[in-house]
Amino acid sequence: MQLIWLRSDLRLNDNTALSAAAARGPCVAVFLLSPQQWQEHDDAPCKVDFWLRNLAELSPMLGELNIPLLIRQAPRWEQAPAVLLELCQQLKIEAVHVNEEYGINESRRDAAVAEALNAGDVQFFSYLDQLLFKPGSVLTKTGTYFQVFSQFRKVCYERLHRSLPYLVAAPDTQAPLNIRSDEVPARIEGFDTPSDHLQALWPAGESEARRRLDTFTDAQIDYYKNERDFPAKPGTSQLSAYLAAGVVSPRQCLHAALQSNQGEFESGKVGAVTWINELLWREFYKHILVGYPRVSRHRAFRPETEALTWRDAPDDLLAWQEARTGLPIIDAAMRQLLDTGWMHNRLRMVVAMFLTKNLLIDWREGERFFMRHLIDGDLAANNGGWQWSSSTGTDSSPYFRIFNPLSQSEKFDSEGVFIKQWLPELAALNKKDVHNPGNLGGLFGVADYPSPIVNLSTSRARALAAFRDLPSRQPAGGERD
Ligand code: FAD
Repeated sequence: MQLIWLRSDLRLNDNTALSAAAARGPCVAVFLLSPQQWQEHDDAPCKVDFWLRNLAELSPMLGELNIPLLIRQAPRWEQAPAVLLELCQQLKIEAVHVNEEYGINESRRDAAVAEALNAGDVQFFSYLDQLLFKPGSVLTKTGTYFQVFSQFRKVCYERLHRSLPYLVAAPDTQAPLNIRSDEVPARIEGFDTPSDHLQALWPAGESEARRRLDTFTDAQIDYYKNERDFPAKPGTSQLSAYLAAGVVSPRQCLHAALQSNQGEFESGKVGAVTWINELLWREFYKHILVGYPRVSRHRAFRPETEALTWRDAPDDLLAWQEARTGLPIIDAAMRQLLDTGWMHNRLRMVVAMFLTKNLLIDWREGERFFMRHLIDGDLAANNGGWQWSSSTGTDSSPYFRIFNPLSQSEKFDSEGVFIKQWLPELAALNKKDVHNPGNLGGLFGVADYPSPIVNLSTSRARALAAFRDLPSRQPAGGERD
């Protein structure tokens, strides 16, 4: 008998480990509940709820193939080896199959599980699945991990020209086993159930992920390049939560995008090329996580930036977290995060830059807060995004190119549609004042909206000085603005 240990791969189709396990013989699936570990990793309650809802969808689908889904407890990952070994002995499992995960704790956990299983005469197989390219297989000529995205992407393109990662067939129905599936819990102690409204925004299940992917690649992808930066428009795929939980695979995304672009990834329709580029950013940051494990340990990618004196400003941090900064684009974005578990990419960059530059607050505070609220929270992408915004990361925004939240607001939400959706108290303002009600002053101010907590030009100068004074400055570079 084979065991597929499901983690961030909650799907039936194109699941490498599941299909490999099923191909070797009758198989059983298991998912470990690890609430203490999840808490230590700041996993958001809405993300944990999303996992549970997806498992509840997946269990009957596996059941139709006669693959029972078992649920076991391993509150911390250090308990995983013993819990899995016991299950393997009970069920006389020959081999355990997993899809690779890339954080430092995930890698250590898997190494410990492999060792315990091998000592108990159970084999352990891990597969590339969460990424298109195995970390360590896209390297510079001198054999190091790329630090610059455009160079990394060039090698990815060469690899894709040579061979496309193929989709894996779903497992066949197996003969019934005399093992009952466990009930998937509806909630886990310590993780509040999100609102019905939030749950309704992110329906669980592979068919929903497929629907989003098909709708996006059929109807929206051609406009992606032009519309992706405007938060009031549904210009992006909103697939990140599904990709993070593995309800859809990057291969499925790549193939759908290629289909909409006559098989081209580097040329052809600019929308599809731009979207595939984003899938490669996802890839890049996961490779960085493996190549430079210090980023897994909350260390800056650029060591010289560890010397920065961040401000200890708990009131400012709280105002940012609670959407009370007095800068509408920042507050609207933070309300979107708190209400939906998701934030538009342009706004993630804007609020991150505001926190780390204008407020000069340590990027780790923002990274943690995002992780605690994002339904798509992903260590590599979140860390990459925060370190990009705070100019402490690889191929990051140069420290002297600081977004002005007002110009960003005027450029990307020119009519104030997004702001008014999230800040109805500003609904009466015209499209000029809505970006900066603090400017109205005195009698004209909006009664229930705060004044800005920071002066944008003096705080900008403060940030520039703090970065300029670092022992060695980073070279200018970076691709996104
Ligand atoms: P689309 O624009 O449709 O992109 C398709 C997919 O590509 C996304 O679903 C995502 O998997 C991937 N992707 C897109 N942009 C990026 C990027 N810049 N880096 C890595 N992958 C990308 N993304 C997460 O998935 N989890 C996070 O925790 C996360 N935290 C972020 C924090 C900050 C400060 C910043 C600036 C960005 C962060 N991102 C994160 C990246 C990006 O904002 C989201 O992936 C994107 O907004 C998700 O929306 P979408 O699915 O509609 O994206």
